[in-house]
Amino acid sequence: MTIKIILEKCTGCGLCVKACPFGAIIVKDKKAEIGPNCTLCGACVDSCKFEAIELKRPEQRAEDLSEYKGVWTFVELHGEGIKKVSLELASKARELADTLGENVGAVLLGDKAREHCNELAAYGADVIYLAEDDKLREYHTQTYSMILTGLILKYRPSIVLFPATHVGRDLAPRVAATVGLGLTADCTGLSIKDGLLLQSRPAFGGNIMADIICPNVRPQMATVRPNVMKTHEPDYSRKAEIITVPVEIKAKDMRVVIKDIVRTVETGAKSLEEVDIIVSGGRGMGSAEDFRILDELADTLGGAVGASRAAVDAGWRPRSDQVGQTGKTVAPKLYIACGISGKIQHQVGMKGSDTIVAINKDPEAPIFDIADYGIVGDLFELVPVLNEEIKSLVNKNKEVH
Ligand SMILES: Cc1cc2nc3c(=O)[nH]c(=O)nc-3n(C[C@H](O)[C@H](O)[C@H](O)COP(=O)(O)OP(=O)(O)OC[C@H]3O[C@@H](n4cnc5c(N)ncnc54)[C@H](O)[C@@H]3O)c2cc1C
Repeated sequence: MTIKIILEKCTGCGLCVKACPFGAIIVKDKKAEIGPNCTLCGACVDSCKFEAIELKRPEQRAEDLSEYKGVWTFVELHGEGIKKVSLELASKARELADTLGENVGAVLLGDKAREHCNELAAYGADVIYLAEDDKLREYHTQTYSMILTGLILKYRPSIVLFPATHVGRDLAPRVAATVGLGLTADCTGLSIKDGLLLQSRPAFGGNIMADIICPNVRPQMATVRPNVMKTHEPDYSRKAEIITVPVEIKAKDMRVVIKDIVRTVETGAKSLEEVDIIVSGGRGMGSAEDFRILDELADTLGGAVGASRAAVDAGWRPRSDQVGQTGKTVAPKLYIACGISGKIQHQVGMKGSDTIVAINKDPEAPIFDIADYGIVGDLFELVPVLNEEIKSLVNKNKEVH
């Protein structure tokens, strides 16, 4: 793509300077000048009343897009079976496919993976592309991307969804680059508009939501964060067609050989993405030591402790506790935000929680805009009282039973 100012038309009015989100335009000698910060986003083109900015896009591939049919999801497995996010994506794929009047395809790779087919069918898959081989037991970039790319080129789905996990974030760009397509990473919303996949994700530091479409190429590909989409009720009476995919992996072709996989697990720690209750703290906690009151409350409730980025950046909590745009997306039954203002980048990571309780001494804090219950006050007074009250309720309950 190229961009240029048409000097004869430019009046030096400066509208493009205001419109440029990257500060890439200056006006010099009454003419606009585009600097190296330009990302070719095109915001200036739309702002110019004199049609003095020309943005040239490369010719689009002319292809018959109607040949592409089917909403696919890549299925990620872990020790206990199908990862929850893959069931979330299968449910979402079902919804999208129903709107489009197309089938849901699930791509399942692994060793002895057939046992997961019934569950995938229950969550909405119509067709399962099953590649089974002991060499597929562990994720491997080259083999997985080779198989998936081959399937996409052969069956031509219109949409392919990947989980935004470590595996999905490694695999999806590789596949997209191999088939020569773009990829929308970390989507927080997916829907169909005029037959196209509307891929919504935070942009510009989370300050706006961008809706991204791919009108000219297929398949439309996106990664989606865990806990963003809801799973449907499974229907175990559903059946899916299973297409067995031949696997030919030759050891001599492998550029990387996985010799050993060492998994590190924080003993006793509960994963924020899996717990039903999260007690989260922000800058208002004041210090690492003061998080102790949140640990106690989380213990009483049988939940885990999360944190805002401010608390993590201050070194009060580990990075793995961070909730938000650059942290984890969580959707517990109960999220208690203590001393967290609720900036948009935090909200995108927790607003899917069933019930949100906010404790903040500032009644104007944005967290109250999304909270179901808000308590205005000092968390150091309120949290210990809340903990004691809940403890005595729990004890009373135990006595009754
Ligand atoms: C690209 C980008 C990505 C980001 N990603 C994330 C992310 O993933 N997660 C995230 O959280 N942030 C993220 N941020 C940062 C985000 O913009 C905010 O800066 C951050 O969330 C603020 O954290 P906070 O609410 O803890 O702190 P503050 O905004 O400083 O709020 C502290 C709150 O504590 C309250 N308070 C203070 N003392 C008490 C008390 N004794 N009792 C009760 N309330 C009290 C105050 O009233 C205030 O509302 C990101 C920012 C950018 C630009």
